[in-house]
Amino acid sequence: MLTNIKGIGDKTEKLFNKLNIYNENDLINYYPFRYNIFRFTNLNNSNDNVMIKATVESNPTVAYIKRNFNRMGFRILYDNKIINVVIFNRAFLKNNIVIGKEITLIGKYDEKKNTLTCSDIKFNIVDGQIEPIYHLTSGLTSSQISKSIQECIKVVKPVDLIPEEYSNEYKFQDKLTSLKNIHFPKNEIDLKQAKIRLIYEELFDFSFKMNYLSQKLKKEKGLPKIYDENKLNEFINSLSFTLTIDQQKSLSEILDDLKSNRKLNRLLLGDVGSGKTIVATIAMYACILSGFQAALMAPTEILAYQHYLSINKLLTPFNVHVGYISGSMTKTQKKKVYDQIENKEIDIVIGTHAILNEDITFANLGLVITDEQHRFGVNQRSVLSGKGNNADVLYLSATPIPRTYAMTIYGDMDISMIKSKPSGRKEIITKVEKESNIKEVLFKMLEQIKEGHQIYVVAPMVDDNNEIDLKSVKLLKEKMDLAFQNKVKCEIIHGKMKQVEKDEIMDSFKNNEIKILISTTVIEVGIDVPNSTMIVIFNAERFGLATLHQLRGRVGRNSLQSYCFLISDYEKERLHVMEESNDGFYISEKDFELRGHGDLFGTKQSGDMSFKIANIQRDYKILVQAKNDVIKYIDSNKYLENIYYKNLSENLNIVD
Ligand code: ADP
Ligand code: MG
Repeated sequence: MLTNIKGIGDKTEKLFNKLNIYNENDLINYYPFRYNIFRFTNLNNSNDNVMIKATVESNPTVAYIKRNFNRMGFRILYDNKIINVVIFNRAFLKNNIVIGKEITLIGKYDEKKNTLTCSDIKFNIVDGQIEPIYHLTSGLTSSQISKSIQECIKVVKPVDLIPEEYSNEYKFQDKLTSLKNIHFPKNEIDLKQAKIRLIYEELFDFSFKMNYLSQKLKKEKGLPKIYDENKLNEFINSLSFTLTIDQQKSLSEILDDLKSNRKLNRLLLGDVGSGKTIVATIAMYACILSGFQAALMAPTEILAYQHYLSINKLLTPFNVHVGYISGSMTKTQKKKVYDQIENKEIDIVIGTHAILNEDITFANLGLVITDEQHRFGVNQRSVLSGKGNNADVLYLSATPIPRTYAMTIYGDMDISMIKSKPSGRKEIITKVEKESNIKEVLFKMLEQIKEGHQIYVVAPMVDDNNEIDLKSVKLLKEKMDLAFQNKVKCEIIHGKMKQVEKDEIMDSFKNNEIKILISTTVIEVGIDVPNSTMIVIFNAERFGLATLHQLRGRVGRNSLQSYCFLISDYEKERLHVMEESNDGFYISEKDFELRGHGDLFGTKQSGDMSFKIANIQRDYKILVQAKNDVIKYIDSNKYLENIYYKNLSENLNIVD
């Protein structure tokens, strides 16, 4: 309980809860996300920050300019010179600025005006001192967090997840020392060693779960599917295209798993537009042919509905009954579908991941497929495999990661890969444009519409907001109507609309009645309207490269030439990466190079790769090391002697 810690009352506890800190253990494992290292400098007139020690020369005067905005001024003596100091919004420091006192000032110096504009003033700083910076929530400061951790560390005994033999082998700091060093580092060397140790620990734990789960799943019996190959081939031959080599290969890997009596637990990886859906659909048909039911889940309702429409169209001629569950259906409507699932009047059910939480009893579920898996965490993975008892599980993902990474991160699954797109696809021509050049973009749009093609327009917001200068879908609708004189049918779609409205809009866009679809990022994943040949993304600088790549993937879905325009007045190097390449792998690598860290694969915090301190790209070598150690550790059965890993392995139905 947090309130056991000195200085944490009910109110502070609630604030900590907002940061997902609920107990002592959460608290000591809440690591700083960066550090300030204080180094004294000279007083030079440059754009860089200076940090100097000086003596206060005059009493400060404070001007309260408006609410929440004040300016404090005073003079200091530095190196026999009197210098003016200005600092904003630090009126609360006024009583600490006393004539004759030595203080540390951080800021920018303007020689002409002989003025130091401070970003901060400190009182007891030594050269090289390191200050931890935590992610905060309003009402809680970094120094409050530091204090609470200091108290907490005195009383809790932290659990060490690194088995002793590896701690010894790598001469790691012990857990308590590493925690002290990560929260209160005395020097950069200690800090670095603490980091490496904690990263290894987190990755060891992660690898253990993955590898243990994978071994367990490999042993689990599945439900072998026996079906008529001729019938399956009849369906495959009925398609309007032939499968690519990679699709065929992935499909046969999946079918082999289905037929075998071991449980299928496979990830189908392929860049956006590579054609994963049809592979999944064929697998579902094989499952139906062998007398089982199948379920397909998508991350958004729009996508679920699209899958429902297209799969229904493909499979109805083959006597397969496809059902759809939407969050906005009434209880009675849902009940009817549930009954049909229970009575096996429905063979395939399609919906969002919400169907996991519904009270559905399947007559005999044989295969569960989840689309766009990278949006979900490891947690959901285990819920899923739990739901259908022995049902096979197939995950689809466009996460653009090299196979070696994939095997480590998705260590608990088998992997199939679709590396190349269907033949005849042209590179999407991509251009970054300033808004002042919008005329050219509009001409291009008109040209595409005249050719009978369709267009997506994307904005970061639904409504206008006076405070932030971003394009909204509503504003763009007005602009488009004006530009095309109301002669071209434009409609809006966004996440806050009612499901029926969204479905209607998507239907008429699919039917080529709507020519321009103006949208937020709700269309980011999965949407497939091959007649669309152009996408225009406003405020493109607001989106990560992974998102832009997914959005762009909405076009270029047949042999027509497609175009992507990224509208931005803040032309960043990042955006030009999109002009260079259509390849998800390349883009993700560049993204990593440019940012050096972070959300490379476009996964959200809740996604597969959310770690406290590790970063699987930056720390890939440590990950590989930890993984190898884990495999040895499991093989030697030594984990049975370690309470933590013994308990974990016994309870590892749910991975957290
Ligand atoms: P994703 O892998 O991004 O989910 P989809 O499965 O939506 O991609 O497929 C993209 C488009 O390519 C769809 O319109 C689909 O019908 C089409 N497609 C899939 N496979 C082939 C193929 N072998 N040849 C031609 N078109 C294909
Ligand atoms: Mg898809």
